[in-house]
Amino acid sequence: MHELQKPVTTLPGVGPTRAGLLAKLGVHTVGDLMELFPRDYVRRDTGVAIGDLIPDQVAAVVGTIESCQEKRTQRGRRLEATLSDGMASMVCVWFRWGRWITDKLEVGARVWVSGKVTVFRGVVQMMHPEVEVIGDSGRDKPDDFWSGRDVLPLYPLTEGITQKWLRRLVIEAFAAHHADVTENLPAQLIKLYGFTQRGAAMQKQHFPVTGTDIAQVRQRFAYEELFYHQLMLARCHHLRTEARAGMSLPVQRKFTTWLKQRLPFSLTAAQKRVIREIVADMESTAQMNRLLQGDVGSGKTIVTLFAMLIAVENGCQAALMAPTEVLAEQHFRSISRLLADQPDVRIALLKGGKSRDKTALKEAIAAGEVDIVVGTHALIQKGVVFQRLAFVAVDEQHRFGVKQRSQLADNESRPDILHLSATPIPRSLALTLWGDLDISVLDELPPGRKPIKTVWKAADRIGEVYNAVWSELQKGRQAYMVCPLVEQSEKQDLLDAETLYERLQKGPFKRYKCALLHGRMHSDEKDRVMQAFQRGEIHLLVATTVIEVGIDVANATVMVIEHAERFGLSQMHQLRGRVGRGAEESWCYLVAHPPLGEEARIRLQTMVSSTDGFVIAEKDLELRGPGNFFGTQQSGLPAFRHANIVQDHQLLKAARADALKLVEHDADMQQPDHAPVRNHYFPTYAERERLFRQ
Ligand code: ADP
Ligand code: MG
Repeated sequence: MHELQKPVTTLPGVGPTRAGLLAKLGVHTVGDLMELFPRDYVRRDTGVAIGDLIPDQVAAVVGTIESCQEKRTQRGRRLEATLSDGMASMVCVWFRWGRWITDKLEVGARVWVSGKVTVFRGVVQMMHPEVEVIGDSGRDKPDDFWSGRDVLPLYPLTEGITQKWLRRLVIEAFAAHHADVTENLPAQLIKLYGFTQRGAAMQKQHFPVTGTDIAQVRQRFAYEELFYHQLMLARCHHLRTEARAGMSLPVQRKFTTWLKQRLPFSLTAAQKRVIREIVADMESTAQMNRLLQGDVGSGKTIVTLFAMLIAVENGCQAALMAPTEVLAEQHFRSISRLLADQPDVRIALLKGGKSRDKTALKEAIAAGEVDIVVGTHALIQKGVVFQRLAFVAVDEQHRFGVKQRSQLADNESRPDILHLSATPIPRSLALTLWGDLDISVLDELPPGRKPIKTVWKAADRIGEVYNAVWSELQKGRQAYMVCPLVEQSEKQDLLDAETLYERLQKGPFKRYKCALLHGRMHSDEKDRVMQAFQRGEIHLLVATTVIEVGIDVANATVMVIEHAERFGLSQMHQLRGRVGRGAEESWCYLVAHPPLGEEARIRLQTMVSSTDGFVIAEKDLELRGPGNFFGTQQSGLPAFRHANIVQDHQLLKAARADALKLVEHDADMQQPDHAPVRNHYFPTYAERERLFRQ
């Protein structure tokens, strides 16, 4: 075992209990401890005057103890020591104490204290500060490594672990293992970025001296982390394409050309660019694994159909898998419409359940009598065998598990795979999550689209919103109204879908057909409601956020979001995308209930001022941070220790480019220059690589 991979219990003074506490900080091995960098530092050399202390900041002060006594208050006992620097004084407070602290607080002693500054009733205070006696009292332990230091680290702590103990442990770890820290980046990258060598950089993080540029040293560790993650993704991509040779499917200019000529519009520049990227992939014998990102309405369907027709004109089959029956049917309808006068391309819809038709359809698929199959999960069920599957599109790919997606990819014929996503994801997140895929982006909407008018309304003006909805319904259009909850909750005074539905159906919208849609309904029932809405039999749909992403009802022109202050930006953008799909002008009303926090205001303002999904997603990421971007959903985002993909975006881009280049030239890192990378990568990352590649 490598020295740094030894458990922390090999360090003096660490038994099972302490090891358990350290584990809470993510520290299991000696190496983890050495990479547990301080969350902050205090400086002892700069004498901050008590009068200059700033509330809520961690600071260090030198002064003389003027008094020290126990006080009893209604809330219990506390120890208070008054400290003066000759100009001003402050109070240090402890709720738990012992000889270890009272010994230091002798009246007249000169001490150094450090802690977070608070102000209570005009008095400057520090709760449970660190204290060190200085000067000639003789109590300063000469063997204390830290006593002569200007800058002290502040580590993240957990109950049961003190700064002092942790600092000592870090010193012990460095004393014993300092020489075991090896460089893990190739020399040319270190030189390129001007990084400090790994061991020295680590020491600087823990034991900086005045003048050390800690932020600059930290960059190296953030880079390292991003680089190794990207390296794993790049290797997965490389190994997959190498191992899985598929078919070469060059454009035959038959159905593809027919489609282009038949379209009543010309493709956008973004569509042309993405089609070029897909064409190159399909022509290559390597298996395509491409993510196509594009906001709702950016024209993903045409691009996908184009790719399908390449497969078909090469005498092969293509499939499109959607996450729900409603979406599958919708895709089937739009593809059927586009291919209406092209009898040479045979399309079919494969749904779940059992029927005689389905058995016949499966036989036709196996016999190659169907060219394009649209379906749900049913496509990957046993018994569905394609004669010659060459292309698969997976719609709303994040709604399928990695396993389900790879099931189609693993088909013997190694079909090219196009993953579709209508959820704009900021580039930094996409590169981190799906860096093993190639990414294409449709970042341009077809011309002539009428932008959706977005209006922010305070809840007490809901009457105006109802009037607006009313007038649209009178014109024969349809509307959505979304609220955050299904049913009345006692704790929160929020509108729920059921209450709202009853209120609207009985009151202002009596003359119209309203319906309710929420996630607790059975999926058949949900489908029935959605289909009725699609047929125009329901005028006003009251729903929770379950309204399908990708649902396309061109006649719906109003989206009302109740309690808009409760919704995340990306979610509101998705909801707004349900309207504005036809030729008519569309509206989105954001109904906000006070009081509004600062962030809620920023979100609403962003929605009003932008309709660009990528701009909104970037703002969302900025507000929420990478960990919360997907809400409660399992995002699969790796937990980086040093890097933050938002703040370190430039570093991420650089790390990705470097990793791709390395894999392209030396996938197994065999060159002597790459030895540091090879040694660090295997076995640590190779293990993860296997999991990731499935
Ligand atoms: P997405 O699947 O990305 O939400 P669609 O492919 O359904 O978008 O396209 C939305 C609408 O825009 C469709 O009605 C489609 O016919 C139309 N469309 C697609 N590309 C263009 C284009 N280049 N010019 C004009 N209209 C287009
Ligand atoms: Mg290919």
